[in-house]
Amino acid sequence: MVNVKNPAQIEKMRTSGQLLYEVLQRLREMVQPGITTEDINRLAHKLITENHAVPSFLNYKGFPKSLCTSLNEHVVHGIPDDTHLREGDIIGIDCGLILDGWHADSAFTVGVGTISAEAQRLIDETERCFWIGARNAVKGNRIGDIGHAVSSYAHSKGYDAVHALTGHGIGRHMHEDPEVPNFGTAGKGLRLMQGMTIAIEPMITQGTFEVDFDGWIVKTRDRKLCSHYEHTMAVTVGGLPDILTLPRELALKGLADG
Ligand code: MG
Ligand code: MG
Repeated sequence: MVNVKNPAQIEKMRTSGQLLYEVLQRLREMVQPGITTEDINRLAHKLITENHAVPSFLNYKGFPKSLCTSLNEHVVHGIPDDTHLREGDIIGIDCGLILDGWHADSAFTVGVGTISAEAQRLIDETERCFWIGARNAVKGNRIGDIGHAVSSYAHSKGYDAVHALTGHGIGRHMHEDPEVPNFGTAGKGLRLMQGMTIAIEPMITQGTFEVDFDGWIVKTRDRKLCSHYEHTMAVTVGGLPDILTLPRELALKGLADG
């Protein structure tokens, strides 16, 4: 069942989303060779709880940490530990929080120190996949339009989009209906309605879209790199979606030319 939100509820979700943006900016700034993924987890937990929010990943179905840190061939759900970041790694940082009962969920991938041009291109094109998907999150479109746009663009750049994990509805719960796959058929699936709140999260691979599950950690089957990028948004009365996990000016810029 899809829970459509009213404008007041969407404003609550924006408040959650803006806090999550601030947290993610601090995490992005700390990424450098030598720190551990647990160092990132510790700061995320501190920033979220200091701001009277709850880290939504912690204890979610038994997940042991307050965010996911996924290195290189890890697609998502990497568990922070004493692994040191190395020059040339790429790291996906995925975090969620609950503020006043409302969830926000967002992720980005960034290079550690100097990375290869190929790795940087994957990161940049994954963000473009997100924006192209987001531009399709408009009232009257269907869920398949989003995934079709994401995967078509990925394929045009020589990449693929992971099928086994998807974006999702979000609100009072981290994962609500509908699923928002990163592949699909244009014109198929649930019709998007004003007030639907969804997280679009392309997971884009250099090689195969197929993945292996290793406990929590999801890896590309061919162990090539994967990049992940995610924001929470609301479908609006008309026109482009309202991105809740970015400041408005960055959201408008991304929707215009991301
Ligand atoms: Mg996420
Ligand atoms: Mg998500």
